[in-house]
Amino acid sequence: MITLALSKGRIFEETLPLLAAAGITVLEDPEKSRKLILPTNQPDVRVVLVRATDVPTYVEYGGADLGVTGKDTLIEHGANQDGSLRGTGLYQPLDLRIARCRVSVAVRADFDYAQAVRQGARLRVATKYPAIAREFFAAKGVHVDMVKLYGSMELAPLTGLADAIVDLVSTGNTLKANQLVEVERIMDISARLVVNQAALKLKQAPLRRIIDAFAGAVGTDYTSPEAA
Ligand code: AMP
Repeated sequence: MITLALSKGRIFEETLPLLAAAGITVLEDPEKSRKLILPTNQPDVRVVLVRATDVPTYVEYGGADLGVTGKDTLIEHGANQDGSLRGTGLYQPLDLRIARCRVSVAVRADFDYAQAVRQGARLRVATKYPAIAREFFAAKGVHVDMVKLYGSMELAPLTGLADAIVDLVSTGNTLKANQLVEVERIMDISARLVVNQAALKLKQAPLRRIIDAFAGAVGTDYTSPEAA
C-alpha cells in the first residue's frame, strides 16, 4: 500500500492533475465526504487528508509514504531556510510548482516601516511563520518580539497586537481588504513533494513510478533517487 498525505483545499485540488498523470484518480471528494482516508482507482494507493502543517510529520514518521506541502511548512517543520531537508527523515525530490505564493511582511498603511526597521530597532511581529520571520529580521539586524498566531494574522496590526505581520500573500486581495500594505517580500513559496526515506528504499518501484509521473507532469529535470 502506498499512502499519500495531502491537505484539503489548494494543495489537494492542484495535486489532482499530477495524480492523473500517474494514472491515479481519487474516488471521493473531500469537500463532500467526511472520510479522512480516500480510496483511489488503484487498490494499492490511498490518500490521507491531514492539516497542512501535519504533512511533514506524517511523512517523517511513516504515517504516509509521501506527501505534498508548501516550502513554508517545511521550513517551519525544521527544514533549512532554502527548503532543503538535510538532517530530517524526509527526501524532497521535486518542486511541484503548484500552490505558488510568497511570504511577505505587511503593515498598516499609516505605519512607518522604514523608520521602524532601522538598525537596532525593535519590532513586534505577529506570524504563523516564526522561523522564517526570525531569520529574515535577524539578517537585517532588527530585534523582533514574535507573537505566534494560528490564523487571521491581518487582525494583528489593526488591533494593536503587532506592528507587522509575516504571512502568505497570493493575489494581495486579503491585505488590501484589511487596509494593509505589503512592504517586503521574504521568499517565494511553492508546494514540494516529500518522501519518507525508508519507504523509498522498501517500496522503491511504486514510489518511483509516482515520482517520475509527477516530474513529467511538472516538466522538471529530475534525476531519480537511485542515480542521484
Ligand atoms: P490573497 O488574498 O490571494 O493574497 O491570499 C492571501 C490569503 O490566502 C492569506 O490568508 C494566506 O494565508 C492564504 N494563502 C495564499 N496563498 C496560499 C497558499 N499557497 N497556501 C495556503 N494559504 C495561502
